[in-house]
Amino acid sequence: MTDNAPIAFLDLARQQERLGPAIRARLDTVLRHCRFVMGPEVEELEQRLAAYCGAAEAVGVSSGTDALLMVLMGEEIGPGDAVFLPAFTYTATAEVVLLLGATPVFVDVDPATFQIAPDSLRARIAAVRSAGELEPRAVIGVDLFGQPAPWDVLREISENEGLVLIDDCAQSFGGAYHGRKLGREAVATTLSFFPSKPLGGYGDGGAILTDDPERAALYRSLRTHGEGKMRYEVLRIGLNGRLDTLQAAVLLAKLGGFGDELRRREEIARAYDADLGNLLGVPARVADSESAWAVYAVLLKDAAERDSLQAALRESGVPTAIYYPKPLHWQPAYREHHDDSVSLPVAEALGERILALPIHPELTDAEVARVIAAVRSWREQREVEGAVA
Ligand SMILES: *Cc1c(COP(=O)(O)O)cnc(C)c1O
Repeated sequence: MTDNAPIAFLDLARQQERLGPAIRARLDTVLRHCRFVMGPEVEELEQRLAAYCGAAEAVGVSSGTDALLMVLMGEEIGPGDAVFLPAFTYTATAEVVLLLGATPVFVDVDPATFQIAPDSLRARIAAVRSAGELEPRAVIGVDLFGQPAPWDVLREISENEGLVLIDDCAQSFGGAYHGRKLGREAVATTLSFFPSKPLGGYGDGGAILTDDPERAALYRSLRTHGEGKMRYEVLRIGLNGRLDTLQAAVLLAKLGGFGDELRRREEIARAYDADLGNLLGVPARVADSESAWAVYAVLLKDAAERDSLQAALRESGVPTAIYYPKPLHWQPAYREHHDDSVSLPVAEALGERILALPIHPELTDAEVARVIAAVRSWREQREVEGAVA
């Protein structure tokens, strides 16, 4: 491999060099027993996930999106209901609300941590109450980029307002808040095992964590078409929302090395923090927390500077990504669900200035050094150009 070989943003091939034998052994077991739907690996994974977070129950489901959908269905969220969620997140957080006929109410985020901003949440709840058209029902806190949302404050607001609190933890399994793993901060926590998430499978998958046995039973029913205790007894409208046995097998093999992956991501984040901190805005850490480092997002001065860095890195074989170029309330699909006179200034500005650097656990020290060197030489070049201008 030459020094200039392109670096991968996500390196599943290298991951297989490390975990391939363990994954193949698990897959072979499934190929032998042939219980491809709800085989024993699903329950084994559920137990491992619950134990990992200290949650009472985990329910394996088909994706992080379906996990959110089933949690909202479990709360009987529907037309006339308002669900509060950050404007700066992946579309899945909001689309499930609209799929159920309810209304997403977009909330601004914190300029340093990019997590949902409690003051904006309070203001948006008050505005919905005073308009009197929708009933405030739930808050979806998103643990963005690997770090926790401000759960202490979110719990206080939800309790005071009588709202159900839900944790969209799709990006942050493995992260921790006040010394405990994410998974117990809300009434229900949803996970995604999409390949690019911290615990990624080899396809779609997800889970719901909860300490409430009744909710867990409800999610188990919902993921199997609303089935009751007996087969073909239909208690409610559900969906086909099960986790595949083959995905559970891959995830069980990957859980073995997950702690090492989290440590490696943290090591890379520290190297970036140390060497890039004086060149651009490195990510602020949420106090008293650990990040799962799904995304290492830096901030530039403006769109021109961000685009210039992205182009320079591309030239050097360093891939980057923009999460998210536009806040949700500016997306065509959501525009009609947001009142234009309400601005969410932080979420609106971030899309122009943010850039994600590669941070997957397969990156070598040499590759990390190359990313840092490429940013440094871009900055030196900008300064020369600035001095000339
Ligand atoms: C990825 C993601 C989801 C959806 O997960 P899928 O498994 O892809 O359906 C939901 N919310 C957030 C914040 C995500 O990043």
